[in-house]
Amino acid sequence: MTIRAKVLLFAAVAVVLVCVMGLFLFGAARQGQRLRQQLVAIQEQIDGYTRLHSVAWPFLNQLAQARQAQMDTALVSQELARRVDLEMVRLADSSLRQGRDAGDMRTLEQERWEQREVRAALLRWSALAERRVNELPANVSVAPNVEWLLYSEFEQTVGQLIHEVQEEARYELELLEQRLDAGVFVGEWVALCFPVLCLVLVVFLVLAILTPLRHSLQGLTEAAERIGHGDFDVHTNVSSPDELGTLARAIDRMARELRESLEEKQRLSRAEAEASEREAARYHALLEDTVRTRTTELAEANTRLRDSLQQLQSTQEQLLSADRLASVGRLAAGVGHEINNPLAYILSNLRYVHQELGELTGAPSEEARQEMIAALAEASEGAERVRLIVQDLKTLSRPDEVALGPVNVADVVRSSAKMARHETRDKARLVEVCEGVPPVHANAARLGQVFLNLFINAAHAIAPGRVQDNEIRVHASLSAPGLVTVEVSDTGAGIPPEYLRRIFDPFFTTKPVGMGTGLGLSVCHRIITSLGGDIRVESAPGQGTRFFITLRVAEGSSGSTESAA
Ligand code: ADP
Repeated sequence: MTIRAKVLLFAAVAVVLVCVMGLFLFGAARQGQRLRQQLVAIQEQIDGYTRLHSVAWPFLNQLAQARQAQMDTALVSQELARRVDLEMVRLADSSLRQGRDAGDMRTLEQERWEQREVRAALLRWSALAERRVNELPANVSVAPNVEWLLYSEFEQTVGQLIHEVQEEARYELELLEQRLDAGVFVGEWVALCFPVLCLVLVVFLVLAILTPLRHSLQGLTEAAERIGHGDFDVHTNVSSPDELGTLARAIDRMARELRESLEEKQRLSRAEAEASEREAARYHALLEDTVRTRTTELAEANTRLRDSLQQLQSTQEQLLSADRLASVGRLAAGVGHEINNPLAYILSNLRYVHQELGELTGAPSEEARQEMIAALAEASEGAERVRLIVQDLKTLSRPDEVALGPVNVADVVRSSAKMARHETRDKARLVEVCEGVPPVHANAARLGQVFLNLFINAAHAIAPGRVQDNEIRVHASLSAPGLVTVEVSDTGAGIPPEYLRRIFDPFFTTKPVGMGTGLGLSVCHRIITSLGGDIRVESAPGQGTRFFITLRVAEGSSGSTESAA
C-alpha cells in the first residue's frame, strides 16, 4: 500500500469515527428527547387519571348540596361531564404526544379505549349517583352513609378502572425510566469508551503507518550515508510496496551500478597503473642506460676538456711569455737605437781621448785636458744612459718576480715611456703628469708591462707624421682616499662600440698578423686585477681612447687610507 493510500485510509477512518460518534450522539439525543416526552406524557396521564379519581367526592358533595337546596342535580352531572371531557381531551393529547416504540407499551387505540371506558364508567357512575339521590324522598337530605355507599360504588367501578389504567401507566413509566437509565448508562460508557477506542485505533493506525515508514526511512538514510562515504556495497532491506520501497529499490540499483562502475574503474586504474609501472620501469631502465652512456661520455669529455684546459693553460702561458717576448722584441729595435746613440758618442769620445793621449808627448794643455775631461764625462753619461736602458730592460724581462710593494708610478711610467719611445716618437708627444701621487701597491715590472702595452697600443692607433698634432698623455691623481687613478689617453682613431666590450678578451686583435697578438689588454687586465686594482676604457671612433687604471695606495705611504685617516 502506498503512503498516500495509508494517509487516505487514516483520514477516512478518522472521518468515519467522527461520523459514527456524531451519529451516535445525535441518535442518543433524539432518543433521550423522545423518552423525556413519553415520560412527561405518561406522567400527565397518571395525573389526569388522578384528577378524574378525585372528582368523586366533590361530585357527591355537590349532589347532596343541590338536593338540599332543591336544585336540579342534572346541572351537577353536566358539570362533572364537562370536567371529565376536559380531562379526556388532555389525556388524548398526552396520548398523542407520548409516541410508542416498544412492543410492551400500550397502543394509542388501547389508551383511547381505556379512556373511553373510564369516561363511560364515570358517566355511568354519575348517572347512577344522581338517580339514587333523586330517588330519595323529598325533603330528605343525602345522608353521609348514602354518600359513602355511592363513593364505594365509585371505587369498585370507576376507581378500580382508573387504578388499573394508572398501574399500566406507571408500569410504562417504569419501563421508560429503565430504558432512559439504560440509555444514559450506554451513553456514559460510549462517551467514555469511544474516545479511548478512537485513540487506540488512531494510535494503531499511526503505528501501522509510521513504524514501517520510519523503518524504511532509517534504512534509506543509512544507505545514503554509506553511499556518501563511498561504500557502494549496500542493500537497503526495505521491501515495502509503497513509494519508499520504490525509492529503496532505486537506491539499491544505483548503488549496484555505482559499485560496478567503481570496480570497472578500479580495474582500469589497476591496468593503467601496471601499464604505467611497466612503462616507468622501461623508461627508468632506458634512462639509466642513457645516463650511464652520457656519464661515460661526459667523463671522457671531461678528461678531454681537462687535457684541453691543461693544453690551453700551457698555451696561454706560452702565449703570455710570447707576448712578453714580442713586446721585448718590438722594443729591441728601439732599445738598440737608444743604446746605439750613447754607444756612438761613448766610442767617439773614447777614440778622441785615446787619440789625444796617444799624440800627447808631454803634459797636455789646460784646454786639451778640459776637452778630454768633457769627452770622458760625455762618455760616462752615455754609459750611464746605457746602464739605465739595460736596467729598464731587466725590469721587463723579470716575469717571475712578482714581489709586491710600494711602486712609484712616475718612475714606472717614465721607464715604460722610454721603452716605447721608438714606437711613439714619430706619432705623438708623450706627456707624463705623474708627480705628487703616493706610491701604489704593485710590482714595478708588471705595472711597467701594463703601461708599455698601453703606450704601444696608443702609438698604433695614431697615424705617423703629425707628432705635434697628437698626444699620448699619462695623468696620475689621487682619485679617492687610498686610491690612485692613472689615466692614459691618446688622440688616436678610437675604438668602435662593437669592439669596445671585447678588447680585454684574450686573442682579440684588429691588427694585422705580426703586429698584434690580442693578448696585450687581456694581460693588462689580469695584472691590474691581480694587484687588487681596476682597469676600464672609454673610447669612441675619431675621439681617441682613455684607459683608467685604479690602484691601491701602498700601505704606510702618506696617501694610503690609514695615512689619510
Ligand atoms: P694587440 O695590441 O696585440 O692587438 P691588445 O689586447 O693590446 O692586442 O689590443 C686589442 C685591440 O684593442 C687592438 O687590436 C686594438 O684594436 C684595440 N686597441 C687597444 N688600445 C687601443 C687604443 N689606444 N686605440 C685604439 N685601439 C686600441
